[in-house]
Amino acid sequence: MATMKAVVFRGKDRIAVEEVPKPTPRAGEAVIRITTTTICGTDVHIVRGEYPVKPGLILGHEPVGTIEALGAGLDELYSIGQRVIVGAITPCGQCFYCLNGVHSQCGGGIGGWRFGNTINGAWAEYLLVPDARANLAPIPETLSDEAVVLCPDIFSTGLSGAESGNIRVGDAVAVFAQGPIGLCATVGARLKGASLIIGVDSNAQRLAMARRLGANATLNTKDGDPVPEIKRLTDGRGVDVAIEALGRQETFENALRAIRPGGTLSSLGVYSGKVVAPYEAFYAGLGDQKIVTTLCPGGKERMRRLMTMVEHRRVDLTSLVTHRFALDDIQEAFDLFSHQRDGVLKVALYPDASHLEASRETVAVGAVDDQC
Ligand SMILES: [Zn+2]
Ligand SMILES: [Zn+2]
Repeated sequence: MATMKAVVFRGKDRIAVEEVPKPTPRAGEAVIRITTTTICGTDVHIVRGEYPVKPGLILGHEPVGTIEALGAGLDELYSIGQRVIVGAITPCGQCFYCLNGVHSQCGGGIGGWRFGNTINGAWAEYLLVPDARANLAPIPETLSDEAVVLCPDIFSTGLSGAESGNIRVGDAVAVFAQGPIGLCATVGARLKGASLIIGVDSNAQRLAMARRLGANATLNTKDGDPVPEIKRLTDGRGVDVAIEALGRQETFENALRAIRPGGTLSSLGVYSGKVVAPYEAFYAGLGDQKIVTTLCPGGKERMRRLMTMVEHRRVDLTSLVTHRFALDDIQEAFDLFSHQRDGVLKVALYPDASHLEASRETVAVGAVDDQC
């Protein structure tokens, strides 16, 4: 039996690089060779035992790769060797939820999220893609792996916070937490036409990045409660839309306190335990507020749209990829990412270490370009 290298979840605080069987596709499935992938905050939740996943599963849900093998029924749509990404969420396109337009809930609650959750994920040399017809998205020729590696999850999720919040031209928006998803929500607020975008975080470096990507005001929570300042910046009313991108009681509560009556709290964070709405910020339940939650939109059409935004230079997220590792060095990469050391935002992982060298050369050239 053919084998491959993969990073396997072995229980709380334990991941290991192992040789495991290489997948083969059945009808309607594809196998892609992973060229680049990355670590997500959700993976940290899993490894820390805060989100339950079965030991023995290969983690990772942000795949960039080339088509290695196609199951029956796909030959006319795709070809071997074609470069593709696959969304972190892989809807089937056929079930009750998909046909009712909530693709991320495919098959039932959070059901669209399969990679590294209910089936093997992308931290491997090869990845089996279910419902390939609905999920393989060809990468435009001009785009590098790192230019699109945030599309499967981070960009899609962050942008969806702005979309679900139904931001209108001229809206005031606050984005709570400026990690990779919060930063992409900031980008989303800019794309949706917000006038005032307030980035909130406790990390000065991340706030500086927020300003680069579209925030025109930033508040450091180390300087005190951000909510009175948000009210002051919005004529005492509060923002039209607040996006929560961390998944903690405190940020949820601040986001609720920050919106005006009739405003929208668009929540992206992954919460543990219970979330409580404070009575006053909830206007006793009579504030005409909307609270919406969103799981990363996936599927190939979503991926195509996100990649066209990159292709046509409406969005450039390459500055969020701050570190690069061979997949073999996952322990070191995970340690750095999970402790947010060294200004890390996202790490690119390369199953083939020779691609790591190639990407370093490209980055060096890019850095020279930036100074021109
Ligand atoms: Zn993720
Ligand atoms: Zn479905």
